[in-house]
Amino acid sequence: NSVFGNVVRAPEDPILGVTVAYNKDPSPVKLNLGVGAYRTEEGKPLVLNVVRKAEHLLVNDRSRIKEYLPIVGLADFNKLSAKLILGSDSPAIQGNRVTTVQCLSGTGSLRVGAEFLAKHYYQRTIYIPNPTWGNHTKIFTLGGLTVKTYRYYDPVTRGLNIQGLLEDLNSAPSGSIVLLHACAHNPTGVDPTFDQWGQIRQLIRSKNLLPFFDSAYQGFASGNLDKDAESVRMFVSDGGECFIAQSYAKNMGLYGERVGALSIVCRNADVASRVESQLKLVIRPMYSSPPIHGASIVATILKDRNLYNEWTLELKAMADRIITMRKQLFDALSARGTPGNWTHIIKQIGMFTFTGLNTKQVAFMTKEFHIYMTSDGRISMAGLSSRTVPHLADAIHAAVT
Ligand code: PLP
Repeated sequence: NSVFGNVVRAPEDPILGVTVAYNKDPSPVKLNLGVGAYRTEEGKPLVLNVVRKAEHLLVNDRSRIKEYLPIVGLADFNKLSAKLILGSDSPAIQGNRVTTVQCLSGTGSLRVGAEFLAKHYYQRTIYIPNPTWGNHTKIFTLGGLTVKTYRYYDPVTRGLNIQGLLEDLNSAPSGSIVLLHACAHNPTGVDPTFDQWGQIRQLIRSKNLLPFFDSAYQGFASGNLDKDAESVRMFVSDGGECFIAQSYAKNMGLYGERVGALSIVCRNADVASRVESQLKLVIRPMYSSPPIHGASIVATILKDRNLYNEWTLELKAMADRIITMRKQLFDALSARGTPGNWTHIIKQIGMFTFTGLNTKQVAFMTKEFHIYMTSDGRISMAGLSSRTVPHLADAIHAAVT
């Protein structure tokens, strides 16, 4: 008899579970639109050419060693990551009031940020958008914070509920933490406009709320790294404080390397250095120090002008392919005369389309068309190709008629 005999089976992760079901399906026409990972036109995972080049340089550099990194990670990587999100001329960086630590991709950066806040910040409540990436609630709850939601998505317009958002943040207790998706909101694909970001910023600052940006898709939304960082930079340029979790999973295709960063923008250099000293105490008992390889790839690319330029081109090509898939799917539904308004497919931003299909329709498409997606009707545009668009359009058409 096992001492663990009373352990109950946990449910499959709602997102990763989609892939488990997909893998079991023997159909030749099956299509996995569940997971947020980029695929080529041929449906294959993509390793960026520039990543291959950087790895080649690293492997051939005999001076490279495998010693432990410091607790906060690779110094070059941290400096360059802060520059990437805040801009190379950021006064916050020049004023040494940003502390950046290398973490285990976006997830790890969010978790380290949560644990730091739970220990050192006077307000333990974090407001996250409704809906949001499913892992947010668990990360912040287990990190020691209390999670509440603010209105974000309006199912009627399939756009932003800016009124509800502002009302909910306006009634949040002073000091509350607010999670914001820097761009390409997951799962809705709905982002505030530049003017709406301005309204959100004003409210957050006037109510002394603390913004915590999740930047998992910089460059992936518009194809332009600076444009996708506009929201964050708007908040940093007012001199206030904020948290930023960065991931290189999507924009460099480094999913499995688990490379990301947490930056905390502070009022002044003295606070920033004290904050960093405490971040080390959060990280050391969690995993001691982060892995070296992925961060070395990123640093190699970011510090070399040619590699950096090459990266921006490859990144733009990925973003453009996704935008093209939006157009093709929209056109395919128009051609079929599929009932309903589908303009949100071309309006939404980033990797996902929040189709508006309900759980029943999703189940129908999986059963009859072998198309796999999360039950909230979210499809990954990055998993689609010109070859598979007609099949998806047929399925959507059948599901709604
Ligand atoms: N935040 C959002 C909104 C995401 O969609 C994801 C990945 O899907 C992440 C964070 C974290 O990803 P990772 O830990 O792989 O960097």
